[in-house]
Order: sequence, then C-alpha cells, then structure tokens
Amino acid sequence: MSQKKPSTQPDKDRLIQQLQAGRISRRGFLTLLGLSATAVGTQTLFSCAGSSSDYDYIIVGAGSAGCTLAARLLTDSDARVLLIEAGGSNDREEIRDFSQSWKLTLPGSELDWGYKSVPQRELLNTPQSYSCGKVAGGSSSINGMVWVRGNKADFDGWAAAGCPGWDFNSVQPSFQALSQAIQPSSVLTSRNAMSQAIVEATVGLGHARNADYNGEQQLGVGYTQLNVLEDGRRQDAFTAFVAPHADNPRLSILMGARVKRIAVSGKKAEGVVLDQDGVEQTLKAGREIIVCAGTIQTPHLLMLSGIGDPAELELHGIPVVAAVPGVGRNLHDHLISVVARKLRQPEPASHVTAMDVSVFFGAGPRPGMPKFEVQVYYMRYGWASYPSEAVALGLINLHPTSRGTVKLRSADFQDAPLIDPDFLGTAEDKAHQLEGYKAAREILAAPGLRNWVEDVEHTPGPDVSTDEQLQAAIRKYSESDFHSVGTCRMGQDDLAVVDPQLRVKGLQGLRLASAAIMPSVPSGNTNAPSMMVGDRAGRLILGRG
Ligand SMILES: Cc1cc2nc3c(=O)[nH]c(=O)nc-3n(C[C@H](O)[C@H](O)[C@H](O)COP(=O)(O)OP(=O)(O)OC[C@H]3O[C@@H](n4cnc5c(N)ncnc54)[C@H](O)[C@@H]3O)c2cc1C
Repeated sequence: MSQKKPSTQPDKDRLIQQLQAGRISRRGFLTLLGLSATAVGTQTLFSCAGSSSDYDYIIVGAGSAGCTLAARLLTDSDARVLLIEAGGSNDREEIRDFSQSWKLTLPGSELDWGYKSVPQRELLNTPQSYSCGKVAGGSSSINGMVWVRGNKADFDGWAAAGCPGWDFNSVQPSFQALSQAIQPSSVLTSRNAMSQAIVEATVGLGHARNADYNGEQQLGVGYTQLNVLEDGRRQDAFTAFVAPHADNPRLSILMGARVKRIAVSGKKAEGVVLDQDGVEQTLKAGREIIVCAGTIQTPHLLMLSGIGDPAELELHGIPVVAAVPGVGRNLHDHLISVVARKLRQPEPASHVTAMDVSVFFGAGPRPGMPKFEVQVYYMRYGWASYPSEAVALGLINLHPTSRGTVKLRSADFQDAPLIDPDFLGTAEDKAHQLEGYKAAREILAAPGLRNWVEDVEHTPGPDVSTDEQLQAAIRKYSESDFHSVGTCRMGQDDLAVVDPQLRVKGLQGLRLASAAIMPSVPSGNTNAPSMMVGDRAGRLILGRG
C-alpha cells in the first residue's frame, strides 16, 4: 500500500506550479501558504527562471550585505537575481521581537553557525565564541541592532589606503539610502530613567553630550540608535530590503542550500556548486557571482574552491584555481572588556533593550575619530557570566592592530574553519585596552550613578588596582564583540583579495561583498557598514558607483 502524502503537500506543489507559471504572484503564493512576506520556507526555490542559466547574478549569502546588494540590483536594473542562503526563514517570533534577542545565540541555536575561535593566547587560552547568523538576514537577524555608521575618516582612510571610490563622500549615498529604509532611532533607548542617569553621569565626567553619533560628530555620549521599530520589531536586512521585493518575478530565493564551491572554468567563475540535504547541484550565472558569505565563510568558501594561498591549499590537497595569497589573512575584530556593578534597585520596567547608551571618546588615528567605544549593557539581557541585576560597560578599542587568520581545518566543506583573531596580539593593543578599561571603570564609578549602582565594583572588583592586575582582569573579562572583518580585504597591493570594484584578483565573473572586504574595521559596530558594502557593490556592478 502506498503511503499517503501529508495533506498540505499537494496544495503546496500546486501553488508552486502556479507561481512558476506566473498565475499567482509571489506574495499571493506566500499568503496562500499562510506565510508572511518574509517567510520563505527552507529548501524552497522561488524560481522565476526557466532554467538555472537564466540568472544574471547569483548572490551567495542573504546576510547584511547580500540583502542590500540584491535590493540594489533589483531596484536599479532589470537583472534576474538568485539569492542563496544556507539558513532558513527569519519569520520567527524570537527574531521579530527584539526583546528576545538573547535567545538567538544560545549554544546549539540553529540560527547561528556557532563557531569558536582557536584558543586565544592572550585571553587565558580560551577559545572565543564566534557567532554568525545562519538564517535569512544573516547576522543582522541575530545581532544587537546597534546602528553605528562609523566615522567619516574611516572611509577616507580606506580610500587613502588604495581603495578609491570608498571615501566618505562616495559611500554616503549608500548610507543615506539604508537609513531611509531602516529609520534607525533612539526612541526606545532614551526613555528610561536609568539610561538618562548614565548619560548625565558621563556628561558630568566631561564627555560631550551627543544627540546623534551618526551625524557630524561621533565623539561624545548619547542614546544608542537601533534598527528596531518603536513597537520592538527588528529591522534585519532581509525584512528591510528583500521582503519588499517578494512580488518581484526577477528575484529567486533558495534557502537551506549551502554553496560548497565556486565553479570556475579557465579563469572565469561560471556558477556555484551547492549542497541541499546532501544533494549536489550546480547553478550558473549569466553575468556574475557575488559572494556575500561574511568574514568567516567568504575566505572559507574561496579556499574550498581553490582560490587562496597556494601553500594553504596544497596543505589540504586542493588544486589551485587562482593564487590569491591574501585570502583568510587580516582577520581582526573588536575585543570587548567588561566592567560591572550590581544594581541597587530593579531596572525600570519600561526597559526593553540591552544597550541604551554609547560613549565614543579618545583620539583615534585620524582627526575627529574616536579611539574607544563604551557600550552600556543591562545584564538581564546579557552575558550569563555576570549577575543578572547589574549594569556592565563594555569597552572597545576601536582600532586594533592585531591581525589574525581564517584557515582551512580540512578540505571537507562541513568542517568549520580555523579562526584565529589573535586578540591582544600586539603591545599597542594591550596598552590601548588598558587605557580604555580604566576610563570605562571611571564612568561606572561616576558620582551621578550612586543611586543606581552599588558602591563596590563587581567586575573586575575593588582589589584590582595596579596595571598588572588590570591587565590580568582584561585577559579574564574580555571577548569578541562580533565585529570581525577584513579576511578578503580590498586594495591594490599583493595581499589584497579584491580590487576597489570588489572583483577577485585573477578571475572574471566573481566579486565579494561583505564585512570580509573591509580593509580595516570602522570606528563602531559593523552591521551598518556591512549593509553599505552590499549596496555599494550593487552600484559598482551596475556602473553607478
Ligand atoms: C551576535 C552578534 C551581535 C552583533 N551585534 C551587532 C550590533 O548590535 N550592531 C552592529 O552594527 N553589528 C553587530 N554585529 C555585527 C554585524 O551583525 C555583522 O558585522 C554583519 O551582519 C556582517 O554582515 P555580512 O553581510 O558580512 O555577513 P552576515 O550578515 O553574517 O551574512 C552572511 C550570510 O551568508 C550565509 N552563508 C555563509 N556561507 C554560506 C554558503 N556557503 N552558502 C550559502 N550561504 C552562506 C550565512 O548563513 C549568512 O546568512 C553582531 C554580530 C553578531 C554575530
């Protein structure tokens, strides 16, 4: 006796046929399946094309950059775009509702690749958690939603370092377009009494008050801007940029599909080889493939495809397709070091966010650039290793000089790569982290906070006073702030992986667009700059840069 199919299946098959025949719209298809516009079920190909070679562009990775790139290509051209994502739909309550963010990176979360770094020499040999979103929207669907554009001088610095076309004036149109769509604001962060007290106490220490650190000046203290709507809904990259194109017949989305190799013929990238539940298939792009797989996975995928340092590839028996020695180098990240005090009174009930206040201070490497950022965390939403009724300040040295690597563990695409950010690898970074840590301690000890936090410091604690003791505390109470960048950096020197048009050196038809291409980490959090990279990539591809 033949088994009966689940009752919903024939309906779904029929609807897919109708969609492919153009008899119903994409939005209609989703509605009939009882899904919202952002809900594209795993392993579903929404194909607009008669055959796979009908895609003009294939984008690998629907994260911060991949989504803004897809939107730019669809909006400004008549191109047919295939967006491939290893993870599934982001139509989940814990993603939509920002106050549930803390659940997204719990150990074993299916929304997180759950990487760990190799043991970090300067952090008591502890491996660091390296979360990366594995879902539509990528890391923007699991992140803290802090919206920081970065300093104008960051981008001018990129241009000066061999990346013409990436100075602030050139990237500004992309940031403007993103902000219009996302509408970042500090409405949620500015309305509770404790956050207000922290701002006032920090001003009392001599920090400038700054109502908009994404405006003319970045330096000073102000309420954190979030890409969260007033009702608490997350504005991740897929929701904000791809979902509005749900009806567009030129967009195809493939989820639950992991690209395991770029298919290269001669010196031309022609397609992608992907794995879907153990089934391999190759899809071809008429014009270009753009890898938007983020800082860790982009170099991993290139190396698995034979694009990288020949010595590293040969070590794992991978034939060299293109010798690009910079692939996987220049990994760097913001290290966040924690100072905490327990609260004297429970947090105000109005409080829904984890990070309400941001302080940018100190003199960075270029005029007007901050050297440090302090993020104020309410621990109810934060790290398990600190008391829940506490305020913690996370200190970041914004311009680390340590550089690490992403390398292959093996030639098997399922094996996680070896991630080594080499935190505090330079004497300069150690000195700067110490300088900033002392300043963060001062903020939390400010007279204006006496009514809110206990007199006795919880972390690192009252017994810690000498530089040596503070250095030891930094080694213990620091971790990645998930701002990794740079593993396929753009530039024009021998170790650059892409040119300023984001084309991979030595190959045709292949570009990269994600945090991986950033030559150096901007002065702040990295989501907005990653989205900018995607949007700018679209403009460059279409010759409108
Ligand atoms: C927990 C966490 C909190 C953070 N908090 C903040 C914050 O508050 N503010 C801020 O500005 N920044 C924050 N960040 C950093 C910011 O989110 C990232 O810098 C940014 O999202 C990176 O964008 P991306 O496009 O480079 O990569 P991602 O957004 O990570 O996108 C890469 C996508 O590619 C997919 N992919 C990878 N490999 C493949 C493959 N082989 N085949 C198919 N798909 C693939 C992935 O599943 C993913 O969806 C945080 C990051 C994390 C992880």
